[in-house]
Amino acid sequence: MKKITIAIDGFSSTGKSTVAKQLAKALGYVYVDSGAMYRAVTLFAMRQKFINENLFDKQALLSKLDDIDISFKFNKQLGYAEVFLNGENIEREIRTLDVSKFVSQVATISEVRAQLVKQQQEFGAYKGVVMDGRDIGTVVFSDAELKLFMTASAEKRAQRRYDELIERGDDVSYEDVLKNVQSRDHIDSTRQDSPLSIAKDAIKVDNSNMTLNEQFEFLLKLSEEKIREVSAK
Ligand code: C5P
Repeated sequence: MKKITIAIDGFSSTGKSTVAKQLAKALGYVYVDSGAMYRAVTLFAMRQKFINENLFDKQALLSKLDDIDISFKFNKQLGYAEVFLNGENIEREIRTLDVSKFVSQVATISEVRAQLVKQQQEFGAYKGVVMDGRDIGTVVFSDAELKLFMTASAEKRAQRRYDELIERGDDVSYEDVLKNVQSRDHIDSTRQDSPLSIAKDAIKVDNSNMTLNEQFEFLLKLSEEKIREVSAK
């Protein structure tokens, strides 16, 4: 069977990464979380004090872009690759609401996008990859054989993200999480460079009323059909 590229885009907290991990595991593909890369750059900017509630020093961040090394290492126990910033495992730290508050601003910077998109394209150069993000089907892999666009109501999405954060012990309120989800969606959809939008050939999946398993079974079927179709050519 030939290998394909699966691009999964959509609004914040639509469960893209959950299903992307499941699909990659079932198909023996590599999973790449492109959002983790934007989060890594954001964490770097926060630590360097280039960004906070009152400040966003783009030039300072741009002057240090070459000092940012992002890599992924597969964790056998977890069953997916964790993200590293200059050799440090930052998987947990990048998922905080604090990083979520600033990441969409950092993701508007074209130079940051260009650098990360190049690395993402290298990860997928040999196909057999499932990548999730906001511009995967439109920009990073505009020739992906299977493009999915995930959506669900903002309240459902905020509730899922809130449950996740509470479960790992973070002190957050539902209202703050909802505000963050809505604000990121707005910035991501209206930015100039590579805004979040549905690719013409993407399949839209509203998972508001789907269980995780129903969603996985449905998308696995779509993936397998596409792999068969491409292999038969
Ligand atoms: O997927 P996740 O919610 O972790 O992404 C965090 C943020 O990174 C998004 O809200 C968006 O601003 C940015 N992002 C992006 N392009 C991608 C992936 C993420 O702009 N391909």
